[in-house]
Amino acid sequence: MPIVTLTNVSKTYPSRSPGAGDVVAVDDVTLSIEKGDVFGIIGYSGAGKSTLVRLINALEPASAGTITVDGVDITALRERELRKVRGGIGMIFQQFNLFAAKTVKANIAYPLTLAGWSKNDIDARVTELLGFVGLSDKAKAYPEQLSGGQKQRVGIARALATRPAILLADEATSALDPQTTHEVLDLLKRVNQEQGVTIIVITHEMDVIQTIATKVAVMEQGRVIEQGDVFDVFSAPQNPASQRFVGTVVKGVPTPAELAVLRERHEGRIVTFSFRDGDSSQAQVFVDLAAAGLDFELIYGGINDIRGRAFGHLTLAIRGDASSIDRALESIAERVEVTVIAGEEVR
Ligand code: ADP
Repeated sequence: MPIVTLTNVSKTYPSRSPGAGDVVAVDDVTLSIEKGDVFGIIGYSGAGKSTLVRLINALEPASAGTITVDGVDITALRERELRKVRGGIGMIFQQFNLFAAKTVKANIAYPLTLAGWSKNDIDARVTELLGFVGLSDKAKAYPEQLSGGQKQRVGIARALATRPAILLADEATSALDPQTTHEVLDLLKRVNQEQGVTIIVITHEMDVIQTIATKVAVMEQGRVIEQGDVFDVFSAPQNPASQRFVGTVVKGVPTPAELAVLRERHEGRIVTFSFRDGDSSQAQVFVDLAAAGLDFELIYGGINDIRGRAFGHLTLAIRGDASSIDRALESIAERVEVTVIAGEEVR
């Protein structure tokens, strides 16, 4: 069941520089986020991700299109009703946005006080949340006494306090080092799996998507240029911009520059074999090449794992007489994708 849908949504701003035309920050976006998804939205700076977030949590009205949150068309709502919608969405931010003058406990209690909870209920909920994020011993600490990862855990506890169905994470790990990033992503995974919260992750980092997301939408210049299951987009990205993002975490087919270096070092025909789960095993490719009496060497690539499903691209330099190589590749190509990227080199 979709929990958030956007249908032909656009957002136009008057330009910040005088004389220039309007800026189309979000351009005809249609997407559907299912309950329980960890939905990643990736794009470079300026792609329109933050604008999309402000539209989803109803901080700004769309210029065109329809947005529904939990079955409610928010484009038709008045301010008072919008406040209720916002209450069902938790937010965490790159800069944590904690109150420096409040303790950890008071930071987490803040949204509960606003929502009118009783003191006893607040105390019980804060204690529970501190336990969940692993900060029970920091209740009385102030944000400045915490590490970045701890601050973000407070941010997560505060965002979850009123039990929202949706958590929006806007570049939530971009200010953290890689180790801390993974700790925070692990915590978000638990929020999704143990509490059933739908998470929307905004990021410019593909490894964040790879680690946590189940679905991904790639944005460029306000448009969603590709979306789908993370496995599908990672194993076979269709759009050049998606290919660039995937290339930051996955070694695929060598680029022309990389190929030139490989060519310097290796003789023979250079061939990339692309595997997806369901294909016959990669080991069989090596068996076939050996059975054909060919000499070969693995020179580039790797196998990746996305939530237990494997895919990858292995580039080999194959040496032997040309017709034996042709025959072997022909029979292998019936089972896996074979791309010849350079022919034999005569030295
Ligand atoms: P991202 O979050 O992907 O970096 P943004 O949503 O912040 O992208 O911005 C998308 C585009 O919209 C950018 O060109 C940005 O300059 C423009 N933009 C965003 N907010 C405003 C605004 N309030 N007024 C004018 N232009 C804006």
